[in-house]
Amino acid sequence: MKNVMIAKHPATGETIDQWLETDVKQVPELYEKAGSAFTFWSSRSLETRLTYITKMKHYMLSNLDEIAEEICSATGKVKTEALTSDIMPVIDILQHYEKRAPKVLRRKKVPTPLLFVGKSSYVDYFPLGTVLVISPWNFPFQLSMTPVISALIAGNSVILKPSEVTPTIGLLIEKIAREINLPKNVLQVAHGGKELGQALVAGAPNHIFFTGSVETGRKIGVEASRRLIPSTLELGGKDPMIIFEDASLKRAVHGAVWGAFTNAGQVCMSIERVYVQHSIYGEFIDRLVEETKKLKMGEDIGSLTFEGQKEVIKDHVLDAIDKGALLLTGKHPDKWGDSMYLEPMILTNVSEKMKILTEETFGPVMPVISFSTEEEAINQANNTNFGLNASVWTKDSERADRVVSKLITGNAVINDVLITVANPHLPFGGVKNSGIGNYHGDEGLLTFSRQMSVMKDPGYKQKEINWYPYKNKYDKVKFLIQAYYSNKKEMISLVRSAYKKFRQK
Ligand code: NAD
Repeated sequence: MKNVMIAKHPATGETIDQWLETDVKQVPELYEKAGSAFTFWSSRSLETRLTYITKMKHYMLSNLDEIAEEICSATGKVKTEALTSDIMPVIDILQHYEKRAPKVLRRKKVPTPLLFVGKSSYVDYFPLGTVLVISPWNFPFQLSMTPVISALIAGNSVILKPSEVTPTIGLLIEKIAREINLPKNVLQVAHGGKELGQALVAGAPNHIFFTGSVETGRKIGVEASRRLIPSTLELGGKDPMIIFEDASLKRAVHGAVWGAFTNAGQVCMSIERVYVQHSIYGEFIDRLVEETKKLKMGEDIGSLTFEGQKEVIKDHVLDAIDKGALLLTGKHPDKWGDSMYLEPMILTNVSEKMKILTEETFGPVMPVISFSTEEEAINQANNTNFGLNASVWTKDSERADRVVSKLITGNAVINDVLITVANPHLPFGGVKNSGIGNYHGDEGLLTFSRQMSVMKDPGYKQKEINWYPYKNKYDKVKFLIQAYYSNKKEMISLVRSAYKKFRQK
C-alpha cells in the first residue's frame, strides 16, 4: 500500500506538500522502465545528450529564485547558502561537463609496445545501464543532481531516491526534467525512505552511487559487493583544520568560523576539529569568539534540517561538557528547547575521550585544541576513522605541502576550507570511513562508464610467435625476452654470446 509523504518545513513544522510515496512493489517496474529508457538514451549521440544538459543549465539560470526557495523550505537553510552551495555547484558542473565530456568520453589511443609490432590499442567508454543514486538531506539538490547529471551524460538511465527528510527536492528535480523535456523514464525519481532505498539496492542497478552516513554506506557496500555491483560511497567526515603560528590569524579565524558553521555545520566537510599552534592559541580563541558572536541567526545561520541530527549534536555537546569541556559561545543544550536554530558553539578543553573529537557531529559546533609541534598536529589530525577533507594554514608554502602530504585524506586545502569540492576539475571522494570512489572531474564521468580496452591486429599475418606449436621455440623466446628487456650493455654481451654459439655450431 502506498503511504502519503508529508513534507514539512524543518523550522516551522508547516506542511509544504503531500503526495503518494513510491511503493516498494513498484521497484521492478522502475527498473524495467529504466532499462527501456537506457536502450533509447544510450543510443543517442553524446552531442544530443549534451543538448539537454545545456537546456538544464539555462532552465536553472532562469529560475534561480524559485529553486532557492524550494531548497530553503525543504532544508531551513539561508537563501544565500542555497544559492552558493546547492545551486551554483550544479550549474558549474553542468557547464564544466558541457565542454569537457566530449574529451573525457571519446576513444583514447594508447601506445602499443614494439613486441606487438603492427597492432594498435585504444580504450573505449560505454554507459553502464541503470544507475541508482541515493542522496542525503544536507545538500539535497546538489548531492542528487551532480551524480544524476554525470550518469546521464555518460549515457545511463537513472533512478534517484532522494532523502525522505527533504522529499520536495525529488519533486523539484522531476519538474526540471519535465521542463527540459528530458525523454521519459531516462530519469525516474523514487519517493520514499530507507525501505524503498533497500528495495532499490536489492533491485537491478548497474551502479549504485550513494551519499550519506557511514552506517548506511557500509550496508549498501556489503550488498553491492555481494552481488558484484560497482558502487561509489560518499560518506561522513570529521575534518581537521591545522593552524600554524605563521598563518594569517584574521584569515584563519574567518575561515574557521565559515568552515565550521556554514549550513549550520551540516556539511560532510565541516571543520569539526581545529588544531591551533600553542603560541597563538589564546589570541586565536579571543578572535574566534568575537567573530562567532557577530553571526546573525536566520541570516548567516539557518535552522537544522533534521530533528534526529539535533539529538546527535546534543549528545556530543553534553558528553563533552560532562567530561570537562568549556562552552565559550552558544547555549547549553538544556536551554535549546524546541527550536531548530542552534547558536554556533565553540568548545575548548576537549580531549580524545569525547565524542566531539571522534564521531561526526554534523552541527554548528567547533572544538578547538592546541598543539606544539608539526608532528603532533599531523598525528592528531590523522587520529580518526575518517578521511574526507583537511586544511592546513601557514604562510610557509613548503611546510604546507609537507604537512598536507602526510595527512590521510581524500581532499586537502591550504589556507582555505572545503573548497576542493567547488573545483569541477578536481575529483572528489573520501578515504578510510569517508568512502570509496570518486566523482567530479574526469572521474565523475568515468565512474559511470564501462571501460573497454581493445587491441587491434590488421589480420594479415598467419600466426603469432607465441601461438602453437611450441617445438624449438623456448630458446628463441628466451632470446627475445632477454633482448627486449636488456639495457645497451647487456644487449651487446647477449649478441656476442649468441654469435659465439652460432660460430661453434
Ligand atoms: P543516511 O545514511 O541516513 O541516508 C542517506 C540516504 O540513504 C537517504 O536517502 C536514506 O533514505 C537512504 N537509506 C537509509 N538507509 C538505507 C538502506 N539501508 N538502504 C538504502 N538506502 C538507505 O544519511 P543522511 O543522514 O541522509 O546524511 C547525512 C550523512 O551524509 C552524514 O554522515 C554526512 O557526512 C554524509 N554526507 C557525505 C557527503 C560526501 O560527499 N562524502 C556529502 C553529504 C553528506
